[in-house]
Amino acid sequence: MQRNMERAATDPARLREGPQPESWSPNRDTPPRAEVPLTTALWRGARNRCPVCGEGRVFQGYLRVVPECANCHAPLGTLRADDAPPYFTIFLVGHLLLPPILWIERAYQPAMWIHMVVWLPLIAIITTLLLRPVKGATVGLMSRLGFGAPRD
Ligand SMILES: [Zn+2]
Repeated sequence: MQRNMERAATDPARLREGPQPESWSPNRDTPPRAEVPLTTALWRGARNRCPVCGEGRVFQGYLRVVPECANCHAPLGTLRADDAPPYFTIFLVGHLLLPPILWIERAYQPAMWIHMVVWLPLIAIITTLLLRPVKGATVGLMSRLGFGAPRD
């Protein structure tokens, strides 16, 4: 019995039976597709410029992506960066600040309250300043890779 169940779970003929899951791939045929070098798309997005044309803005407000570029009408709102920008920002801020924090601790051993007064606000400020350009660069990356709204 146990053997039959194992065979059924690994037998390719058995796995093909039944309804097949729909496959999904990014929509690479329709805009917003930045036909520029990857570094250009990243740099434009990081500077709050449309990765497709380089003229319109990516954001309305701090982090909200515009529905479409005001200049070239690329549907930037379909590029959903979701949690990627905070992950990238945490990665960057951690690698920027952890070495000096550890070095100062080893070299001077300041009191813990000094660490808290200095590093916590600095981490918050740098994270806030980096989040927007990182999200813009992520939108540029997604635009360059051809991500967009899934096909209907
Ligand atoms: Zn544009």
